[in-house]
Amino acid sequence: MSQNDSYADRLLEFRLQNIQNLEELQRIRWERDKYREKSRRDLTTGLLNKAAMEEEICSYLSDRPVQSLDALIILDIDDFKHVNDHYGHLIGDAVILRLSGLMKETYEKDAFLGRFGGDEFVVFLKNVGSGEEMELKLEKLKGEFGTTNFGKDGELYCTISVGVSYNMEISTSYEAMFECADQALYKAKEYGKDKIAFFEIKAGVLKYL
Ligand code: GH3
Ligand code: MG
Repeated sequence: MSQNDSYADRLLEFRLQNIQNLEELQRIRWERDKYREKSRRDLTTGLLNKAAMEEEICSYLSDRPVQSLDALIILDIDDFKHVNDHYGHLIGDAVILRLSGLMKETYEKDAFLGRFGGDEFVVFLKNVGSGEEMELKLEKLKGEFGTTNFGKDGELYCTISVGVSYNMEISTSYEAMFECADQALYKAKEYGKDKIAFFEIKAGVLKYL
């Protein structure tokens, strides 16, 4: 073997090794991204968890279009503890999956969807077309959830209470939006559950449906 041949062999080996290293690096990056994404999600529903939701919403609000209308919606299943206690956790899980499924169907894009734990879910709508459109969609989701029979042999219907805050043309922090939606949710529960309450941040008024 000439000196040139041996040099060519070593070069080829070096290149192959580089390709392998690159593939290994890509595989490690892919694994890392997969686990990072997994750690941002709620295992049962696949929705974003609370920490990931807060991160996404805060990042969006820090660079929000001036004239946009955004909404933060908290959905909470009514008397969910009773459902679990009387019908079991499997039925309870089916109720949770139905609600998260409807959230995904209703808000395909321009929204962050999350589960904040237990029976509390959050939707953040970015730049909603109009208040009326938002109300209609929410009513539809609530109606479809409320007409789902979760009973195995008999009938079991569940309801949700919903608190919404929305900001008209003003800058608002995530904390303020969440606090206002939470107040609206509290009122929806107080006024007998199975209701949607809206809090318009600009006017500081609560409106009930
Ligand atoms: P309210 O109408 O005021 O909202 O009352 P509630 O009974 O819905 O509220 P509460 O917070 O007392 O009950 C929530 C229950 O959710 C308690 C817990 O057993 C149940 N839960 C939390 N996570 C899960 C889950 O992943 N699966 C199931 N099946 N139940 C869960
Ligand atoms: Mg509840």
